[in-house]
Formats: sequence, structure tokens, C-alpha cells
Amino acid sequence: MDLDFDLECPECGAAMKATLEDIARQRTVTCRRGHRVTLVDKGGGARQVQGALDGLERSLKRLGG
Ligand SMILES: [Zn+2]
Repeated sequence: MDLDFDLECPECGAAMKATLEDIARQRTVTCRRGHRVTLVDKGGGARQVQGALDGLERSLKRLGG
């Protein structure tokens, strides 16, 4: 289960997208102008939400959904 976030490149302001998982895993993403931006999960909030979503997804699958 993925949630998309609209972000801005801190170097050039270009719009970019990251998924919740990207943030939770603190991945490095590249804006369309080639700047590399390391995502920071401040306080671990994205990781907690991702974990909750994964748990929900598993529960739904068990229900056959
Ligand atoms: Zn950029």
C-alpha cells in the first residue's frame, strides 16, 4: 500500500513525488533536474504509518479483499 507525497527539490524547487515507503526507508530520490535528495523520516513517523498500513493490508488480504 503506497501513499504519494508531493515534494519540492530543495535545490531547484522542482516538484517531485515520493511514496511513504521512500520516506520510511529514507531513500535518495533524484529530481528531474538531477539533484539527489535524501529523504529524512523525522521522528520515524513515516515508518510507523507504513508499518500500520502494511498491517492493515495484511488484515484485508486475510478477509479476501
Ligand atoms: Zn532539483
